[in-house]
Amino acid sequence: MSHSAIFLDLNGTLVMPVQVSSPREYHLIEGSVEAVSLLNQAGFLCPVVTVQSRIEKGIYSEQSFLNWFRQLQDQLKASNATILGPYLCPHSSKTMCNCRKPQPTLYMQAAQECGINCKRSYVVGDTANDIRAGKAIGAKPCFVRTGWAARDIAQFGHEAAFIGDDILQVAQWIVHDAANSIASPVLLPER
Ligand SMILES: [Mg+2]
Ligand SMILES: [Zn+2]
Repeated sequence: MSHSAIFLDLNGTLVMPVQVSSPREYHLIEGSVEAVSLLNQAGFLCPVVTVQSRIEKGIYSEQSFLNWFRQLQDQLKASNATILGPYLCPHSSKTMCNCRKPQPTLYMQAAQECGINCKRSYVVGDTANDIRAGKAIGAKPCFVRTGWAARDIAQFGHEAAFIGDDILQVAQWIVHDAANSIASPVLLPER
């Protein structure tokens, strides 16, 4: 478990709008490619953890989502930005699945597959469930003010380690925070 990671939410964090009738409607939030590239350069893996309840609702298929995600990965790769995954919950809130945020299942799966130490990692998202998941896995949770943030920050903002205007601002903060944390080994007990 030697890698540090930034677990990224998708809707409202990397892409907008938060609700679509087809994945083709997603567009990248300004600064998100630069943010991922910056985090990669700082040595972080960037797994994407996403709930796509519209798959189970039948609005679009899991395959069409995965096809779109592969294209997104290629697009980012062309700008030296690498995202991993997707670590995907396709279920609606009516299904009692064990993968929906804020449960740690998908994060732990990513950690296992990629060799990630969650205690040296961060979670970035626009909802309270992203923040709760971050706390559940022992990572530092960060809010972005894009997506659903206006709804959740007022209520849950105090639970975040940092609140940024967008993913780029959060990425810049993380790079500094991680550098400071490494200089203080007391804050990073080895498991
Ligand atoms: Mg989101
Ligand atoms: Zn699920």
